[in-house]
Amino acid sequence: MGIKYEGRAIGIDLGTTYSCVAVWLENHNRVEIIYNDQGNKTTPSFVAFTDDQRLIGDAAKNQAATNPVNTVFDAKRLIGRKFSDSVVQKDMMLWPFKVIAGVNDKLMINVQYKGQEKHFCAEEISSMVLTKMREVAETYLMSPRKATIDSGAIAGLNVIQIINEPTAAAIAYGFDKRGDCDGKQNILVFDLGGGTFDVSILTMKGDVFEVKATSGNTHLGGEDFDSRMVNYFVEEFKKKNKVDISGNPKSLRRLRTACERAKRTLSFAFVTTVEVDSLFQGIDFCSLITRARFEEMNMDLFNECMKTVESCLSDSKIQMSDIDDIVLVGGSSRIPKVQDLLQDLFPKKVLYKSINPDEAVAYGAALQAAVLSKGFKNVPNLVLQDVTPLSLGIAVDVDHVMGVVIPRNTTVPLRKTKGYATGCDNGVVSIRVYEGERARALDNNLLGSFKLSCRPGAPRGTPLEVCFSINENGILTVSAKEISSGNMNQITINNEKERLSTFEINKMIEEAERYRMEDKEFLRKAKVMNDLDYCVYKVKNALKKKDVNLNLSRGEREKINNATTLATNLLHENNKQQKIDVVEDHLKELEIMLEKLVVNTGIENKHKSSFLGYLFN
Ligand code: AMP
Repeated sequence: MGIKYEGRAIGIDLGTTYSCVAVWLENHNRVEIIYNDQGNKTTPSFVAFTDDQRLIGDAAKNQAATNPVNTVFDAKRLIGRKFSDSVVQKDMMLWPFKVIAGVNDKLMINVQYKGQEKHFCAEEISSMVLTKMREVAETYLMSPRKATIDSGAIAGLNVIQIINEPTAAAIAYGFDKRGDCDGKQNILVFDLGGGTFDVSILTMKGDVFEVKATSGNTHLGGEDFDSRMVNYFVEEFKKKNKVDISGNPKSLRRLRTACERAKRTLSFAFVTTVEVDSLFQGIDFCSLITRARFEEMNMDLFNECMKTVESCLSDSKIQMSDIDDIVLVGGSSRIPKVQDLLQDLFPKKVLYKSINPDEAVAYGAALQAAVLSKGFKNVPNLVLQDVTPLSLGIAVDVDHVMGVVIPRNTTVPLRKTKGYATGCDNGVVSIRVYEGERARALDNNLLGSFKLSCRPGAPRGTPLEVCFSINENGILTVSAKEISSGNMNQITINNEKERLSTFEINKMIEEAERYRMEDKEFLRKAKVMNDLDYCVYKVKNALKKKDVNLNLSRGEREKINNATTLATNLLHENNKQQKIDVVEDHLKELEIMLEKLVVNTGIENKHKSSFLGYLFN
C-alpha cells in the first residue's frame, strides 16, 4: 500500500511471510528500502505472545521454536476465511498455533498472552505486523525534532491507495527500466510469494501503466511448498521411528523451519540435508532431500501457476509472442523449476530478475505514494490504470442469477449503467451486489445489499436503471433508480474484500494502537524494574564503604536499609500484575532519600566524587 507519513511517501508490502517498507527520497530521486532494527530489509510477518509481552518480526520468529503454540504466522492467508473453509481445515493440521471457530464461523487464533487465553482474528494479527512496519519507517524517518511525536500524531498515517502487489512490482520494474525502451511494452508480472500467487499483464507506454488483466490464487505460495516437505518428512519419521509427530506443535514448527531452509538451499544446490536435533521424544532427525524430489512433490502446484499465467494471458487478449518482458517477483519465484516452466511457456524471452523479488512491491508502492501525494520533487509522472480483478454484478429480488454489469479485467475508473426490472409486486426492490465469476449469485462473494422504494403499487417488471461506478481508489458505488418515479438509492463498497481495503487498514491501525500502548507499558515496567535493581545494588555497594558508613547516623542508616529492603521485596515479589506506578514511586523515593543522605551526611563535600561514583557509575 502507498502511505503518506509526516509528509513522506512510504510503501509497505504486508506479505504473508515477510513484510517490507520503502520510502521515496525526493532529494535523491529514488526509492530506498528501509532496514529494520535487526539490520534486515525484510521483517518476518510473525507475532508472538509470551507471559510478559508481545513480539513482532524477527524477535517473534527467533523464539518460534521454543514457543510454537503462541507464535502466529501466515495470518494474511487467513483473512476473510471462515473456520469451516476446507483450505483452513487442511492448513490447520500443520500450524502449531491453535485456530478456533468464533461467532458466525469466523476464524479466530487462540493464544496464551500474559497468562490469559486470548482470541485474535487474522486482521488483528496482520495489523500488528503493519504497526511494526510503520515503526521501522518511523525510526528511519524520525529526526530528533520528531522524536517527541506521540502515538496520536503517529496514527495520522494516511493510507493513500492499496495497489495490487504485481502492479506495484511492475511500477518498480518500469521505473528501473525507464529510458531503456521506446514505444509500447507488454509486461507479465509473475508474483509467487509466501502465501499468495498473482499474475498481472500490463502495458507500459512512456509513464503510463495500464493493467490489462490480473489473475491469481490467494492461497498458493511458498508455505504450501514447505507444507508438502513437512508432510513428507513426518511420514519418513513415522516409518523410521514408529512415532507420529503430527500432533506435536513444537516438533512441527522446528521441522517446518528446517524444511523452509532446505527449500531455499535447493534453489541453488541439487541436494541438501534436513537436520533437527531431538525432534521428538529425544530422537534426532536427519535426512536428505534432492531438488528433483522437492519438485516432484510440488509439481501439481507449479503447474497450477502456469495454468493461471495462461488464463491471464487469454483474459488480456495479448498474444504470448507479444509479451516483451517477464518480471519475477516474490521469494518463491526463485525456485528453479518454477523459472524453467515459465521459460518453457515463453521460450524466446529472458526472465527479468534484476529487481529484488522481496523488495519490489514495497518499492513500487512507495513510488506510487509519491506520485499520488503530489507536491514531491523529481517524481516520475507515472499514471496507473488498473482493472477490476473479478466480475461485478447484481441479483434483484428473488432472482438467483448473477447479472454481470462489469466483466472482470475492465479498466478503472469506470461507470456503467444497465437496465433491470423489479421482480415482485411489493413496491420495494432488494438489490444484492456480488463479485465473482459464478453464474449462481449465491456462489459469488456478496459485497453488500440495499433496498429501493418504488412508487406505490409499482407492478413486477417496473423498469430500473442500475449504475456501477468505481473511482481511482477502487471504491465501488452502486446506485439504482426507478425510472418512472425517479426514486433512487445507492451503496458504497470498499475494494477487495478478501484482501485489505483502505478502510480495513485504517481500522487495523487504530486497533493496533491499543496493543502498542500495552507494549510500551511493558517496556516502561522492564526499564523501571531494571533501574530499581541497579539503584539497590549501588546503594548496597556504597554502604559497604567505611567512609560512607561513618558519616551516617543510625537513623539515617536504618532509613536507607528500610528503603532498600522495600525495593528488594518489590523486585522479588512474584506478582506480574504489579503496578508500574508503585515501582516507579519506590524508585523515586529511594533516589531522593539517597540524594538527601548524600547532602545531610556531608559526604557530598568530602566524598562527593567517590560516593556518587559508587551510586551511579
Ligand atoms: P515473499 O512473500 O515474497 O516475501 O516470499 C516469501 C516466500 O519465498 C517464503 O515462502 C520463502 O520461503 C520463499 N523463498 C525465499 N527465498 C527463496 C529461495 N531462494 N528459494 C525458494 N523459496 C524462497
